[in-house]
Amino acid sequence: MKDQNVNLRVEKGVAEVVEVPMPHAVGEGFVVVEQAYAGICTEQKVYATGFYEAHESPLHMGHEGCGTIVEVGPGVSGLAVGDRVIVHIGWACGECFVCQHGLTSTNCENLRVGPDMEAHNGAAPGSGGAGFNRFRLAPAINVQKIPDTLDFRYARAANCLLGSTYSIVRDFDVGPETYALVAGVGFIGHAVIANLKHRGATVIALGRNESRLEIARRLGIDATIHPDDPDWLDQLKSLTPNGRGVDTSYECSGHPDYQRKALDSLRRFGQLILMGYQREKDWTLDLDVHDDILVPARRIAGMEDLMFKHRADLLELLQDPTMQQQLDIMISGEVPLDSAEAVFTDILTKQHGKFYFTFA
Ligand SMILES: [Zn+2]
Ligand SMILES: [Zn+2]
Repeated sequence: MKDQNVNLRVEKGVAEVVEVPMPHAVGEGFVVVEQAYAGICTEQKVYATGFYEAHESPLHMGHEGCGTIVEVGPGVSGLAVGDRVIVHIGWACGECFVCQHGLTSTNCENLRVGPDMEAHNGAAPGSGGAGFNRFRLAPAINVQKIPDTLDFRYARAANCLLGSTYSIVRDFDVGPETYALVAGVGFIGHAVIANLKHRGATVIALGRNESRLEIARRLGIDATIHPDDPDWLDQLKSLTPNGRGVDTSYECSGHPDYQRKALDSLRRFGQLILMGYQREKDWTLDLDVHDDILVPARRIAGMEDLMFKHRADLLELLQDPTMQQQLDIMISGEVPLDSAEAVFTDILTKQHGKFYFTFA
């Protein structure tokens, strides 16, 4: 039934579609969106291990999405039923330092998540607070209207693909003179590569997964290095001017070995950007502040979301035919929600790029 709401309930070894009530936008500042796509981000880890992040429960999986507004609640302006939209992640307050400065929604000081949205709208648990729902609640502050000419197949990349990696590349002075390292080549690494190549950088990938390195090559990577090569650092330096090291390194795996190598790859005054997300692991990076940071005058930053102030520019980029070709390379497929167990199992083999759920 197309007008029936469904949710993907995920726990260790189980991913099943369950019927849930329709949510309604009765709370201030909300719309209801019928989803066209929702990206699979890290949910396969819950299927494999049963570990939930702070804001997730079996009925609150998935945080990405795009689709069509079917209901507009009180206190919403500039959005109407029938509008095609991107749903950005979380429920930002609009009032804290982060929101007022156009920074990232998921770093809002008062960030609220799926169960909060359901409570605010008097909706049943699991009925629309998450991305893996056909009909979902979305706060207007995190909904972005898109033109009719932009296919949802490209709009969906505004979440944890091109979008979550856009601001961190844009805001760190990347240009044709930049030499960058991408350590770890999962779908976030691929998206960083696409953003770096879009700005003309020379990009080196550090990785051992041949399937994913092949996607990186098709995206136009300039060189790849195997992290287990004893002379990996010499190889890397020989690719940079005067052997100085890279200007910026993007760590996209979350593993301390890659974090260490991403740090060691930097030239003096270089910057390490930490993007790898491994919340369930008890990994730490050993850091010598004097030798690793002070003496080489390096900077370390972390970020994993699109800035509010870059939403309009990202929308332009999603409509760029060259970038759309890159997205076709990065995206491995789309599957119906009831194929979740098969696609989670597939993703866990780490042979692919990004996957999306469909709700048709
Ligand atoms: Zn805020
Ligand atoms: Zn994500």
